[in-house]
Amino acid sequence: DQTVCTPLPVLGRDVLVPLVTGGEVTYAALDYAASAPALQRVWDDVAAYAPYYGSVHRGAGYLSQLSTDLFENSRATVAEFLGCRDDDQVVFTRSTTDSLNLLAAALPADCQVFVFETEHHASLLPWRDARVNFLNAPRTPAQAVETLERALAARDPYGPALVCVTGASNVTGELWPVKELAAAAHAHGARIVLDAAQLAPHHPLDIAELDVDWVAFSGHKLYAPFGSGVLAGRADWLRSAEPYLAGGGASRKVARRADGGVDVEWHTTAARHEAGSPNVIGVYAIASACKALTEAGFDSLVEREQRLVTKVREGLAEVDAVRVLSLFGDDAPRVGVISFVVDGWNSSHFAAALSAEYGIGVRDGLFCAHPLVRTLLGSAPQDPGECGAPEAEPGERSLNAIRVSFGAGTPDEHVERFVGAVK
Ligand code: PMP
Repeated sequence: DQTVCTPLPVLGRDVLVPLVTGGEVTYAALDYAASAPALQRVWDDVAAYAPYYGSVHRGAGYLSQLSTDLFENSRATVAEFLGCRDDDQVVFTRSTTDSLNLLAAALPADCQVFVFETEHHASLLPWRDARVNFLNAPRTPAQAVETLERALAARDPYGPALVCVTGASNVTGELWPVKELAAAAHAHGARIVLDAAQLAPHHPLDIAELDVDWVAFSGHKLYAPFGSGVLAGRADWLRSAEPYLAGGGASRKVARRADGGVDVEWHTTAARHEAGSPNVIGVYAIASACKALTEAGFDSLVEREQRLVTKVREGLAEVDAVRVLSLFGDDAPRVGVISFVVDGWNSSHFAAALSAEYGIGVRDGLFCAHPLVRTLLGSAPQDPGECGAPEAEPGERSLNAIRVSFGAGTPDEHVERFVGAVK
């Protein structure tokens, strides 16, 4: 039954792919953690708007006004979706990576940054000019809070500090104790940014309730694949930072000086960091996805997804050769993201076989979280290439892993096919 099976219809459910064994099969997209399929609703909304596309904040013409309205209403929708506080800003970016780089560029002078080594590279790497403290991988959520507490207690208490943490791991799917980490950060006068790239598509998110200072996420993982992302949160650091990009849209007033130079007055709103013509379609798509997820009700989405998580976990547990990767232990709560290795198999070959023989799309590699995956695999650093890993020799320990991930619109059949194929 379509309505029971797919409470939120997504695109690409009927794509036929050829099998090496002959014939064809409908594609099972089980790589939501990389990019989720678009919601049908997002596609419909974008298609309805596209003929009326116009420039944003740039004209008196009807289409320009319409586009500006859509763009600014989308900002309000995202603010509502995230439960933003009155004085929060919602800045539209290209992606989570872009959002965190924007925040990194807006850090006050001498800001110390605290980040677990287990983070995705998008959260681990943007803080290049800051004083970064890399925290060791915790093995329980409580240990994560203790580790952070200890690091913050030892910090220079007078300078600004920022903690960056992921809400749900893109490797293990495990949920991090965001609220407790936020409380620890604030108790030590630090701020906290939440990388919600994997949390936002799978879990209700409330910036005020979690008491985090900023949230970053990507449209393409939230069923809205048109090249946009979000950084939402406290206005003060953003308002006093240099514009992320210099150009039109970010500047309020520009004038030649008598000495021949140029004086610029920058906006103090989100526009300060949105120079250039913005991606109105991408932004509208995110707002459309936010509305669709809210209307569908996260409770039923989470409940359904957890049923699929259990199905995968139980299925994999029946295969002796499979080892599921976990930082916080087998019973830790997780979203629909599960990584594993299979004894005797090279993970890349395994993923290729799932695709070629069963029409199942999963991810293999180190998932842009090299330190975390190496910790979980117990392997030494190697030259991994682009987000990947070299091949293990037959009989060697795996140097990379396989990841299966799913969410809204995933039919039971895809997950059942996957478990059957692994078996
Ligand atoms: N953080 C996490 C936890 C992620 O899973 C990803 C994407 N894999 C990112 C950040 C980066 O997202 P994007 O590539 O959309 O910038």
